[in-house]
Amino acid sequence: MTPTDAVVIGSGPNGLVAANLLVDAGWSVVMLEEQETPGGAVRSDSSVAPGFVHDTFSSFYPLAAGSPTIRSLELEKHGLEWVQAPSVVGHSFPDGRWGVLHRDRGATAAGLDERAPGDGDSWLALCDTWDRVGDDLVRCLLSPFPPVRGGAGLGWQVMRPGGWELLRELLMPARSLTERLFVGEAARMLVAGNAAHADIALEAPGSAAMGLLLVLLGQTVGFPVPRGGAGEFSSALVRRLQSRGGQLCLGERAEGVRVEAGRAVAVRTASREIAVRRAVVADVSAPALYGGLVSWDQLPTRLRHRMDRFEWDPSTVKVDWALDGPVPWEGAPEQAPGTVHIADSLDGMTLSGSQVAAGLVPEKPFLLVGQMGVADPSRVPAGHEALWAYTHVPQQVRGDAGAGRIGLREVRGTWDEPDLEAMVERIEDRIESRAPGFRNRITARRVLGPRELEARDRNLVGGAINGGTAGLHQQLVFRPVAGSGRPETPVKALYLASASAHPGGGVHGACGANAARAALWHNKIQFPWRRR
Ligand SMILES: Cc1cc2nc3c(=O)[nH]c(=O)nc-3n(C[C@H](O)[C@H](O)[C@H](O)COP(=O)(O)OP(=O)(O)OC[C@H]3O[C@@H](n4cnc5c(N)ncnc54)[C@H](O)[C@@H]3O)c2cc1C
Repeated sequence: MTPTDAVVIGSGPNGLVAANLLVDAGWSVVMLEEQETPGGAVRSDSSVAPGFVHDTFSSFYPLAAGSPTIRSLELEKHGLEWVQAPSVVGHSFPDGRWGVLHRDRGATAAGLDERAPGDGDSWLALCDTWDRVGDDLVRCLLSPFPPVRGGAGLGWQVMRPGGWELLRELLMPARSLTERLFVGEAARMLVAGNAAHADIALEAPGSAAMGLLLVLLGQTVGFPVPRGGAGEFSSALVRRLQSRGGQLCLGERAEGVRVEAGRAVAVRTASREIAVRRAVVADVSAPALYGGLVSWDQLPTRLRHRMDRFEWDPSTVKVDWALDGPVPWEGAPEQAPGTVHIADSLDGMTLSGSQVAAGLVPEKPFLLVGQMGVADPSRVPAGHEALWAYTHVPQQVRGDAGAGRIGLREVRGTWDEPDLEAMVERIEDRIESRAPGFRNRITARRVLGPRELEARDRNLVGGAINGGTAGLHQQLVFRPVAGSGRPETPVKALYLASASAHPGGGVHGACGANAARAALWHNKIQFPWRRR
């Protein structure tokens, strides 16, 4: 069999972006995907109820919309259409009031000012700062370490008046920053709720950067979703890849990478060995690559020691519902948000986050909720809703913070059917408390616990959604282990392209783009647009 230039293992967004960049450079590419459907954690399906499309995992893509690499792929020419909910994010409070991130910054500011005079101006000032530094910051975060171009732009901003203060703010814990910037809970929770999309504690450095990045991308590019379901994003990437000669092999798992004289030379599956001329790009988790696809005897001992310290992010329980009407939110905002956050207060979020960190199933879990019929009515029969909610739970459960509370069934963390049912009850109670009558609208339900998530995508180990903790100690040059931050591995021609690599989780394609760029660089092939 003729060798191929590259084998890409795994068709998550990172694998697909890498494969697309490699075919753009004229390489022959074979992509192996274990599942029968491509896309990794960017897929949709109709198995919850007939006539409904549910996203199996991820849903909202501000990082993709803000990613220079994904924009450069021009996926709209391959059938992708972005659509947006009337408003971006809503935070629902126990008293029936809301904090709302509107598409229009003036409208966001006006709403926040109504809740706490002065917060509107603070919001607009924050947006002004983003206008100044946002592009450089995104470029910096989404490029390999050290970030040369974005870093230079950001460095220039830091040298300007107020620059050091800005840098300090980005490094702050989300709690300290939001309490300093805003008077009211509405604005604070919009930032904190977005910070909680990653697993950095609100009191830990780095959480403010995460919250600001998402909320300000939300304010500028929105939280777009692909018309027709998350899978349409992956389908567009696949169509683009195949139109340029890339080969996608579904239902074929890579079982090993053959290494000869320190270089990756082939990829083994159950039925064949694919010889590789230039690169193996692995969109698999770091622990699945090191000591998995590549055996430890092919890797330096120091890597093994460092991988012993690799930390997963928390586990996840996700529920999808088909509803026969909209969610009956109390005090529902006039402009319905696609994403809804449910937490009682900043203190409540801190409490549920620290319960997870302490190995306890939270008594009042922080919920991320997606109203997909609001964001994209084409996914549901008219007037119906395709809703999901997920929450984080510990990887190793030591107890239940809700045990013994009246009306709460104990969750043991075995994640078998009775355990998941108890967890679902807790999640539905939280939504029902904000939307009385919600349960009466449920016509179908699907529950994806840690085991079900991993069975559908083996990168989601134990229900971890981000390829490893986003904590500062495992970011940048510490991702996936101290001394890395780049996609190169100790094996020549082998690159780590998944969310386990810098810059981590989220659908931005940067881990894949970094890996493809490194492979091209090592093969001295420039990107077509750079050659011009
Ligand atoms: C429930 C959930 C909600 C999320 N919500 C959002 C969101 O709204 N917005 C956002 O930006 N991000 C979100 N994320 C995170 C985001 O989806 C991930 O960070 C992103 O998908 C990571 O992409 P990836 O390419 O690294 O890996 P994945 O998307 O996990 O893809 C990896 C692929 O590799 C395949 N694979 C693994 N091993 C092998 C092998 N040996 N051989 C062949 N194939 C293999 C897997 O089957 C899978 O298809 C969410 C994730 C989850 C789970």
